[in-house]
Amino acid sequence: MTSELPNIKIPTDLLPADGRFGCGPSKVRPEAIEALAAQSGDYLGTSHRQPTVKFMVSRLRNAVAELLTLPDGYEVILGNGGTTAFWDALTFGMIDNRSQHLSFGEFSSKFAQCATAAPFLADPSVIEAPAGSAPEASAEAGIDLYALTHNETSTGVAIPIVRPSGTDDGALVAVDATSAAGGLMFDSAETDVYYFAPQKCLASDGGLWIAAVSPAAVERIERIAASDRWIPASLDLKIALDNSRKDQTYNTPALATVFLAVHQMEWINTYGGLGFSSGRSAASAEIMYGWADASDYATPFVTDPALRSKVVATIDLDDAVDANTVSKVLRANGIVDTESYRKLGRNQLRIAMFPAIDSEDVAQLTRCIDHVVAELRS
Ligand SMILES: *Cc1c(COP(=O)(O)O)cnc(C)c1O
Repeated sequence: MTSELPNIKIPTDLLPADGRFGCGPSKVRPEAIEALAAQSGDYLGTSHRQPTVKFMVSRLRNAVAELLTLPDGYEVILGNGGTTAFWDALTFGMIDNRSQHLSFGEFSSKFAQCATAAPFLADPSVIEAPAGSAPEASAEAGIDLYALTHNETSTGVAIPIVRPSGTDDGALVAVDATSAAGGLMFDSAETDVYYFAPQKCLASDGGLWIAAVSPAAVERIERIAASDRWIPASLDLKIALDNSRKDQTYNTPALATVFLAVHQMEWINTYGGLGFSSGRSAASAEIMYGWADASDYATPFVTDPALRSKVVATIDLDDAVDANTVSKVLRANGIVDTESYRKLGRNQLRIAMFPAIDSEDVAQLTRCIDHVVAELRS
């Protein structure tokens, strides 16, 4: 039997205004939910083939282009199934023959598994690094797609996004930015496919995938679609491309998810775009890592400060303090989802610092953790 949870009540003046620190689904801004509720009758529950919803999808595509400052010729495409389905779509419709994957945690390893399992592709090249660090991409002959992960959500490692040099002509760079898009700076010209789902930095709900694709990626989609490779329709990037260009999805999307993502991106774009939103995350990260560095029981898990994510903090606790108990006590006080990534198996807290989360709430969270640990130690 598990022991009983210590009854610790955190003083009200230490509590954050919003207790959601999960890495996905993550905090949705109350303003967005109010705006959704105010849509009364002309949006939710109406056809996604009619102008009202198509206009919302066009706003989504435009907001992504503005947020990521996409170069001329890049397009925004979308479909159903979230990032996990998009890995399958990439496997069917974007990898020509052989991909290279940087694998440094749960999420980055999963796309590599998809490509490995595909009977019509050569076994991928997989460059691994232990959790908490990151490997580097390096050009290899015969690789036609380089798969990077901007932010490895399971470990709290973020890498700079740079096109590897010396690659074969036409090789593409595909970046899983599910927990990074909208929270971390990067140069979209370094990518051909920058893809994500909106339940993290975009403060929406799950179920959708969104991808910014370069002209070279569009060409690849069209060429593979015209080949004799069998592709299931729901994972067919050419079908997704054709529908996206008409501001539609192939099958019915979650209209609330589309709306909330648009609301978050338009909020960010109004206040200055990615500089504004990544600045919010960076300010939270400074508070979080500064607190951990100064603490006598907490240490940032990622030892190289340059790799420490500004959107997901992983904080190891001293063995004498049980992180699970800390998370449970926080939860009992309305502060949720601070548990470490389940498969990492460390005595750790994992805390989202997505743009929707106020830095002041992150500061309050550190005070709450200090309070709980002081009580547990006493
Ligand atoms: C959350 C996450 C995913 C999975 O996204 P789903 O929409 O649930 O499929 C993939 N990659 C990264 C980096 C993530 O953070």
